[in-house]
Amino acid sequence: MLVCPHCGKSGISILDKFYIPVVLSVKCRACQQQVSVDAKKLVLLGIPWLAVIIVLPPSVGLMLLPVVAFAYIKWVPLVQK
Ligand SMILES: [Zn+2]
Repeated sequence: MLVCPHCGKSGISILDKFYIPVVLSVKCRACQQQVSVDAKKLVLLGIPWLAVIIVLPPSVGLMLLPVVAFAYIKWVPLVQK
């Protein structure tokens, strides 16, 4: 579980965090407030990856997916919505 930026408790699951780029925000299970991610860092991570997908064969983009997912979890912080 990940720490919520509102209440500081472990209210966000890793799966929740992967949903955020799709649904924009998720609700903390501890305090029920909306949590999102740092949009600037999400874009900084997403643009190079999209460029790789466009420029290189799709298999290369897929191979990089675990790296991008790991970087997203580790490097893109949760923020208050
Ligand atoms: Zn919370």
